[in-house]
Amino acid sequence: MSTEPTTADHAGGSADKPSGASSAGSVRKDPRRRIPRTDALLALPEAQAIGPIVAKRIITSVQQRARSGEISPDEVEPAVRSLLTGHRGSLRPVINATGVVVHTNLGRAPLSADAARALTEAAGYTDVEFDLATGQRARRGAGAVAALKDACPAAEDALVVNNGAAALMLAAKALTGASDGTVSPILLSRGEFIEIGAGFRLAELIESAGVRIEAVGSTNRTHAADYDRPGAILQVHRSNFTVEGFTSAPEPRELAELAHARGDVLIVDVGSGLLRPEPALPHEPDMASALKAGADIVIASGDKLLGGPQAGIVLGRAEAVARMARHPTARAVRADKLTLAGIESALQHTPPALDYLRRDADALLGRTRAFKKKLGAAGADCEIVPHDGRAGGGAGPEVPLPGWALALPEAAAEPLRTGEPAAVGQVRDGRCLIDLRCVPESDEPALAAAVERVLS
Ligand SMILES: *Cc1c(COP(=O)(O)O)cnc(C)c1O
Repeated sequence: MSTEPTTADHAGGSADKPSGASSAGSVRKDPRRRIPRTDALLALPEAQAIGPIVAKRIITSVQQRARSGEISPDEVEPAVRSLLTGHRGSLRPVINATGVVVHTNLGRAPLSADAARALTEAAGYTDVEFDLATGQRARRGAGAVAALKDACPAAEDALVVNNGAAALMLAAKALTGASDGTVSPILLSRGEFIEIGAGFRLAELIESAGVRIEAVGSTNRTHAADYDRPGAILQVHRSNFTVEGFTSAPEPRELAELAHARGDVLIVDVGSGLLRPEPALPHEPDMASALKAGADIVIASGDKLLGGPQAGIVLGRAEAVARMARHPTARAVRADKLTLAGIESALQHTPPALDYLRRDADALLGRTRAFKKKLGAAGADCEIVPHDGRAGGGAGPEVPLPGWALALPEAAAEPLRTGEPAAVGQVRDGRCLIDLRCVPESDEPALAAAVERVLS
């Protein structure tokens, strides 16, 4: 590693002296001598919090601005601090006090501190498509693929794309064309023509990619025999609604047998990104189970219960994944280095989203009581009420996650939303409910201070 020039030797001996800096006196007066040194800036708590690699990059860029005269030496430390703590774009951090874990309007899954660090570390040049040992080009995002295969051994191979919708479109395009040039349709149950939000319908997405859909079965009941005709079979999880009453849907195992008997594939879209069965959401399909049942390709989102950044996760048989990876459309939906870094990291530990999903009602009650105490006199009139959280993001819409909330007057909702930090509660029946399920412990003091301010 090369040693970084200190401010002193830069100002004293560099070639780009400002005009008139020839006499010893003016060198001494050179304001650039007052630029804070790298080691001093690295010792700032804000720098310690994000680690030396990223911190140094930020520090160097600010020192450079001071050396070029763009900012004064006195402005260096405040600028470094502000960059290290972020808050510079239009997107503001929000405390999610709604109790909805994967809240689409609030950016879906929160990243763990590790995953966030992985993203920042990948922000500069990185070996995303390069083998440092050989100096040769390497498979893009091999680390994320390996982490996915580790996390889900039932998968022979994996692919990360832009999002779940992109994965679905790519699967539909890549797995319906045969080597003789013929194109088969996608068979989709009439009960699975789903709108996922903001007016987007999955069937329309697939058709917009030039793939024909053949509707099979009926809205409430579809049987394996309905799929007994040529075409790739797609099963889409009815993630954001439930169908009750006189209903029936075939098991993935039956569909896999049917498809494979005639040389077609089974694609299963599980939506939520659960890698394996999750006791907190007993009816939610998971990727490993679908693969074990014989699915050739399983698709999910990276930023729902998988707890990573926005991504489409594809797991499946090696040959089917390879067909998707080499399809021309794969290039248009490929994941960027930040996504790959975030997904890889999210897979190494339990992500915050799963922790929040699994929070125990008694523990939440204890936290809510302690939170109310912190409010002091301001909290005297607030009531603690039972409040069910939700997985959100289209997972387990019918499954309540038992918990508690602090009930504030409805009028508190607006100042909490627009304050600093911004906090969003659940407005219901004339009250603003503050549910701590998805509030990190480290955010609790700031939330308590905000609530106290609003109440008094
Ligand atoms: C969420 C969801 C999608 C879309 O995934 P994105 O990552 O939002 O593009 C597709 N299918 C199902 C079943 C889903 O739940």
